[in-house]
Amino acid sequence: EEHSNGSNGSHRPLIPEIKFTKLFINGEFVDSVKERTFETIDPRNGEVIAKIAEGDKEDVDLAVRAAREAFDHGPWPRMSGYERGRIMSKLADLLDENVEDIAALEALDAGKLFAVLKEGDIPSSASMIRYYAGAADKIHGEVLKMSRGLHGITLREPVGVVGHIIPWNFPTIMFFIKVAPALAAGCTMVVKPAEQTPLTALYYANLAKQAGVPDGVINVVTGFGPTAGAAISRHMDIDMVSFTGSTEVGRLIMEAAAKSNLKRVSLELGGKSPLIIFDDADIDKAAGLALVGSFYNKGEICVAGSRVYVQEGIYEEFEKKLIEKAKGWTVGDPFDPSSLQGPQVDKKQFERVLSYIEQGIREGGNLLIGGNSLGSKGYYIQPTIFTNVNEDMAIVKEEIFGPVMSLMKFKTVDEAIRRANNTTYGLVAGVVTRDIDIANKVSRSIRAGVVWVNCYFAFENDAPFGGYKMSGNGKDSGMDGLHKYLETKSVVTPIYDSPW
Ligand code: NAD
Repeated sequence: EEHSNGSNGSHRPLIPEIKFTKLFINGEFVDSVKERTFETIDPRNGEVIAKIAEGDKEDVDLAVRAAREAFDHGPWPRMSGYERGRIMSKLADLLDENVEDIAALEALDAGKLFAVLKEGDIPSSASMIRYYAGAADKIHGEVLKMSRGLHGITLREPVGVVGHIIPWNFPTIMFFIKVAPALAAGCTMVVKPAEQTPLTALYYANLAKQAGVPDGVINVVTGFGPTAGAAISRHMDIDMVSFTGSTEVGRLIMEAAAKSNLKRVSLELGGKSPLIIFDDADIDKAAGLALVGSFYNKGEICVAGSRVYVQEGIYEEFEKKLIEKAKGWTVGDPFDPSSLQGPQVDKKQFERVLSYIEQGIREGGNLLIGGNSLGSKGYYIQPTIFTNVNEDMAIVKEEIFGPVMSLMKFKTVDEAIRRANNTTYGLVAGVVTRDIDIANKVSRSIRAGVVWVNCYFAFENDAPFGGYKMSGNGKDSGMDGLHKYLETKSVVTPIYDSPW
């Protein structure tokens, strides 16, 4: 079922009705206490999609009260892990059943590619829910080998009420990478989606209710960072905050946690990740990885491999291949199946990326391709590649969060390692080589939470993911991603002739 998107005639599946625009608290959609709203914008043209309830401190208070009650007295932490897993599996099935609607909502709200959401983000989120659903009945502690006549065990208990603050670049994946393990652990939660992309989080609140998640377990408060987000990070009754977003805001969240109740803090922050390509690499494949590494999701991805280091022996050939391939990188309407890159999420990000490009030029960078916005409306930017750049320049040091690659040449393995590590970040790295010794040396020498060898963006449910250095602390995904929502309690009893 398709209809044309008005004047430009581009493909667009039927846009689903926007059914959920209010806060979700204690199982009900409600207006914000102050009855305020904010607009969420279609980044293809800057038009308003819908007015969304704007939550603030009072609303976070109500949501936390519901989550607290659900944790302290409700069924969720008390039911068997098996039962929680069954409900979560239903939720995963509901994602699959509604994949078209969800993909359209998110493409509209975030400018992400409809086809990729439908084939990638949504089904992979369903699979992540199932991964944690399967883990929910396998959470257990240990029997301790104690001396002195004591018997000891550990219990793994849910951490309590969790505040999840999530970004706009992967609204669905970020929602479930946090919500699914917290649900499996038996936690209750307040989720604050990014103000740029509130639509799918509200949709998921409704699906969770339909699946049988009890009221109060998942609450969604839409609104802005300095108001609703800050109210979560300094709340006295939230036991943990799990955040994905900028390093700058991560710092504020940690500070607020320290100044309030020392809630646990898990941070997945920015990056400026290196992709290192050695002389023995398959040039065609490596150029493809570099392109995807920098331009996938319009470069709005914390793990973008935007510092590309190529060894001198293949540098020139690589550069040619990259330019050739970049010509096939189509920018356009995210509903058009031939688009590989949609618009940046909003005006602010659009302007921020363009100002980085200007700065790169000012500081002496050479534009290999791109460098401009595209079209007369919407927030489209050309895929952009800089050469003649180094680690002292802002575009190489700072996270741009747009389709901008810095291409650099190196001579030796040691030089590559040293320059790759010359960053305050440490989220991921990529290595392309057929030499096992180089692969081993580099993957062990890079200070980053994930190293992809001869691949990039190779995410899997069971692989923990999270940064070193200023890219954050704590892992999402994998069993580490579940364990962070658990506390360990030791229980000790005397057995015989105990001195205690
Ligand atoms: P941000 O960090 O401000 O936003 C992320 C989330 O944090 C949103 O939900 C936001 O409402 C919330 N937030 C903002 N201020 C807050 C506060 N004081 N207290 C609590 N929560 C708060 O990111 P942004 O401004 O939307 O984007 C700026 C830059 O951040 C990007 O250009 C990019 O470099 C980086 N970023 C990184 C990621 C990532 O996945 N690591 C995601 C989004 C943005």
